[in-house]
Amino acid sequence: MRTTLGQAEQTFVIGTGTAHTVLSVEDLFGHRINYLRISVTDRCNERCAYCLPDEVQTWAGREETLTDDEIVRLTAAGARLGISKIRVTGGEPLTRPGVVDLIGRLKTCPGIRQIGLSSNGTLLARSHGGGTLAEALRRAGVDALNLSLDSLDRETYARTTGRDFLPRFLDGLRAAQQAGFASIRLNCVLMRGTNEHELWDLVEFAREQGCLIRFIELMPVSSRHVLTEENFLSVGEARRLLEFRLGPLTPLPDFKTLGPATYFAVPTTDQRIGFIGAMTNLHFCESCNKLRLTADGKLRPCLGSHLEFDFRHALRGPATSDADLERLFLEVVARKPREHEFRDNYQPQRRMIAIGG
Ligand code: SAM
Repeated sequence: MRTTLGQAEQTFVIGTGTAHTVLSVEDLFGHRINYLRISVTDRCNERCAYCLPDEVQTWAGREETLTDDEIVRLTAAGARLGISKIRVTGGEPLTRPGVVDLIGRLKTCPGIRQIGLSSNGTLLARSHGGGTLAEALRRAGVDALNLSLDSLDRETYARTTGRDFLPRFLDGLRAAQQAGFASIRLNCVLMRGTNEHELWDLVEFAREQGCLIRFIELMPVSSRHVLTEENFLSVGEARRLLEFRLGPLTPLPDFKTLGPATYFAVPTTDQRIGFIGAMTNLHFCESCNKLRLTADGKLRPCLGSHLEFDFRHALRGPATSDADLERLFLEVVARKPREHEFRDNYQPQRRMIAIGG
């Protein structure tokens, strides 16, 4: 069944799966939205130069941050409209008190089938309920982990993240492996003059650890200064640098994960490498399937656009029904742009950490 609803010409596509009805929502450009990234905090225990450039920060107050109940209610509304995958992110999501319980609740929202977590990994080996935090997260229902790793050199890691936490990252990765996570991805932001000479080592490390590695182009979020001609390294150039060492990489057009990465195979091995080229891949936004919820309750249809819609106000309004929330959610989908504005002299307003990566 296909129906067109409302002034925004919002289209619902309703199909019948084997076990249950699958509902998903499409925007005006054919993006099929089934993925919600939820930032559970704007706080972080690291200070990455490209994400949170200044040491002195203003954080959202406790009152401004969505509560567990509010996040669960909004997720449930999204799930009724076809959201089936969520990623819990931040800031550093593991700094939010009670995050394990929150994830457990999100996992039981009807319709939510997959939960990913983005983390810098440095807190995963912490004790939690008689085991490690990594074990608790797995028990709570996290299916897949994305861990940030820009350098294997302790000094470069410390300079990039503002913290000497490479040993903690390595402990966290080990804890995640011991907890039995089947899918651990390493996300590495490409920076000329910082980690371009390490790309091969990072690929080798990922192979040894059994992780999928993805290289991400710097995006002009947080401040215009995080991306300059001097420090930008495109995914195309990174691929050529790797090919110099590894031989020609073979494109894998049919291999997909949830997001916009394109994958290549390393010759004579079964290793794959992902590239996320928001700046240079002109097809980057075509398959976008996500919305982003900020820790202070704004729903954003696109990372690279200033559009955002206030759900905190709606969630706290005594008269807001679930149907009202769904209507608002659909309005956000209807306003999703065709593509991001990063290539268009984009002037960031909110820091990445306040949007959720
Ligand atoms: N703290 C968590 C982490 O480290 O994954 C979650 C939040 S972090 C904002 C999510 C991802 O966004 C990280 O992989 C980070 O490297 C990436 N990121 C942050 N700022 C970026 C920028 N300016 N350009 C590209 N990627 C960025």
